[in-house]
Amino acid sequence: MRKPRILLRALVITSAVLLAGCAIAPQPPRNPLAIWVPSPNHNARQPTLIVLHFTGEQSVQRALDVLRSRNSAGPVSAHYLIGRDGVIYQLVPETARAWHAGVSQWGNSEDVNSDSIGIELDNDGEEPFAQPQMDSLLRLLANITTRLDIPRTHVLGHSDVAPTRKDDPGLWFPWSELAARGFGLWYDAGPLPDPPPGFDPIAALRLIGYDVSDPVAAIVAFHRHYRAMAAPQLDAGDLRILWNLQGKLLATGQAGDN
Ligand SMILES: [Zn+2]
Repeated sequence: MRKPRILLRALVITSAVLLAGCAIAPQPPRNPLAIWVPSPNHNARQPTLIVLHFTGEQSVQRALDVLRSRNSAGPVSAHYLIGRDGVIYQLVPETARAWHAGVSQWGNSEDVNSDSIGIELDNDGEEPFAQPQMDSLLRLLANITTRLDIPRTHVLGHSDVAPTRKDDPGLWFPWSELAARGFGLWYDAGPLPDPPPGFDPIAALRLIGYDVSDPVAAIVAFHRHYRAMAAPQLDAGDLRILWNLQGKLLATGQAGDN
């Protein structure tokens, strides 16, 4: 007689837990003006870009404070912050719009905050990025691009999407190493051919995604990313890289949505 009683009690407890679970299950936001007629044919809104930053701060704790408070220059945040020791902090859900890119543009996106995941790296902008930090970044990029189905070429710097205002993640950031691990758009190895006569490098920059309304700013941003320098004029090496990148984008059909 004991066993059935225990079974019954277990059943009652399970039912109570299930009922309680139902009672507290979060409801999706609905507009009371409309009749709710749910359709299963939808998914979450998707970010399509990943934007990398340096914090410009001296410590991860200082960065954590800045990214969670109302600063005199206005509140800012990011989805993730990675410490020099490789610890990954998440500050904002991926489904929410973090305030990391500010006034920015990339390709057809004029609201990069709405279209991106922001990752801050604890780095003051004047130093190499620590290896444990890079290892964690690569692990996080693999994780995010896979889960959210973001193309691996769509990893950018803040200076790429805000060339007139920003210089991070800066000249120390190892974009070529990132590319060697499969992240970010990069040019082919080996001697690159010269572009044909009439090649328009500014059109190529626009095709890659740069806002070229200030062409010099776009060139400097391109230089930071692809040449680890901040010169304002294009040289012959740049033209070969831009011709190569333009060809890759046109071949893969990514032009315009990169
Ligand atoms: Zn930034």
